[in-house]
Amino acid sequence: MRMTDMRLSDNRGLSNACMQSRMDGVPVIVLFVISPQDYIAHDRGARKIDFTLRNLRLLKERLADLDIPLHAVSFTPRKKIPEKVLALVNSFGCKRIYANIEYEVDELRRDTELCKLARPLGIQVNLRHNKSIIEPGVLYAPSSGKAYAVYSPYRKLWLKTANANLAHYLEAPKHPNANEPSVRESSTFGHLFATEIPTSISGFELDNTDKAKMAEIWPEGEERAREILLRFLSTKARSTQLGAVDPLAPGAQDVLKHNRIVKYGDDRDRADKDTTSRLSPYLSSGVISARELLRTTMELFNMKTINGEGDTGASRWIQEVIWRDFYTDVLASFPRVSMGRPFLEKYSTVVWENHQAPQDPNSAGKPNSDADGLMRWKLGKTGVPVVDAAMRCINEMGWVHNRLRMIVAMYLCKHLMIDWKVGERYFMEKLIDGDLASNNGGWQWSASTGVDPCPYFRIFNPHSQSTKADPSGDFIRHWVPELKLVRGPDLHNPSHSVVDKLGYPRPVIEHKEGRERAMRRFKNPGEA
Ligand code: FAD
Repeated sequence: MRMTDMRLSDNRGLSNACMQSRMDGVPVIVLFVISPQDYIAHDRGARKIDFTLRNLRLLKERLADLDIPLHAVSFTPRKKIPEKVLALVNSFGCKRIYANIEYEVDELRRDTELCKLARPLGIQVNLRHNKSIIEPGVLYAPSSGKAYAVYSPYRKLWLKTANANLAHYLEAPKHPNANEPSVRESSTFGHLFATEIPTSISGFELDNTDKAKMAEIWPEGEERAREILLRFLSTKARSTQLGAVDPLAPGAQDVLKHNRIVKYGDDRDRADKDTTSRLSPYLSSGVISARELLRTTMELFNMKTINGEGDTGASRWIQEVIWRDFYTDVLASFPRVSMGRPFLEKYSTVVWENHQAPQDPNSAGKPNSDADGLMRWKLGKTGVPVVDAAMRCINEMGWVHNRLRMIVAMYLCKHLMIDWKVGERYFMEKLIDGDLASNNGGWQWSASTGVDPCPYFRIFNPHSQSTKADPSGDFIRHWVPELKLVRGPDLHNPSHSVVDKLGYPRPVIEHKEGRERAMRRFKNPGEA
């Protein structure tokens, strides 16, 4: 079981292992490998690791109810993981390994090595696609024969392919069943039930306040993820059993009218309302599957096929879920994006402020603009209210609305001209939903270096973006209390005299100045 598989239901690797064990009459043992070196190499954040460990502890209990032991081990160095896993598996006398595929380069190399070393030992390795609804490699552009680098045609073919074979793409694999024979009392494996899942991993500890806060905002477990899904799909889901809603049934219109997904089409870019599902932490750790999201949505809306082309809230939401598959496909098909390189190589020489020689710290002049700007961006003190509110929200909650992620990412790469990789890393450190494929996709979109990116000359004006994302101003006033008394349009771009009075910083850089510098640097990569 991997960091992206934190569930029992709808889990192909686990389900297949249980079915095979039944046929072979041998027990199943679930193995989780903790690899701190991988966490460092992949910028895994302490919050995400804590979320994984919380889910893992719950999974261990649920698996124990099925008489399946979950054994967690920590292995270093990471290069030796295949060897060490096989030695352990051999010591258990296991002949088959089942796992779900992780598409990052290092992980694919690790699994290739595992397969290579397993064969001479007579151990069969079975790897399953489980993260995406349509797995990477299935869809490619007919004209080039390559993976898609543009979203719309990918989405069109995605919908056609999925709808042509719904049973294959959406079907939930069988839920794991109890171990036969039971291993709980067995002298060989019984001790595995006693393996403790650590509460933290050295080097990735959260302080107690953050740990408690994350546990409160993002509770672990499949049941909670399902509740959050139902809360998004229907306000009544908490009190009623949600099954398929026949739109003509009494009360059905009420359910459909009040659920948030219906308003998603109009409201999804509003950060001052609770408009989106907030399921990303659960999806990125695999606590719930994307298949389950679609199955449940289709049931509610009585969809016979996946409708991801219309303007309705449900269609729009489905399109977002398809973005997740798209970025995973990109990561698997163009490995350079997970190696810190831009997808559009022509931008690899763009001059970033943080690549310039650092200023002499003893000089009395202006502080190094990069270090100062970056620090202010991280702390939410850039002097641009929407950027600061969003960054404080990330720092506090480990999550922020998609539109605000785009605004702060573009502000860092374009206005501050700081390399997108610096922002990408900071997001991974702070986000509870950190996912290499989506995070890299989002950052490279904002930096204009990625697949289907925002063109470099379309630089968001953060002030006008702010009025669209937070028209009521409630979001800014909540996260930037210095501005809580400011009303009206001033809130989005307060004057120097107002901010000086309120003790709020003036902007690091004015929009016009930042925009012009970014346009110059992107137009002529390599020139400062
Ligand atoms: P909803 O609007 O309810 O969407 C449902 C699901 O669809 C999401 O949970 C997510 O899995 C998927 N989704 C939605 N939008 C996108 C998108 N643009 N790209 C890919 N998948 C999407 N998402 C992550 O899961 N992890 C990240 O590390 C991450 N980093 C990002 C960094 C940047 C700079 C940007 C611009 C976007 C990033 N996203 C990331 C995508 C998106 O912002 C989040 O998935 C979304 O905000 C999660 O909120 P939600 O669950 O309420 O989304």
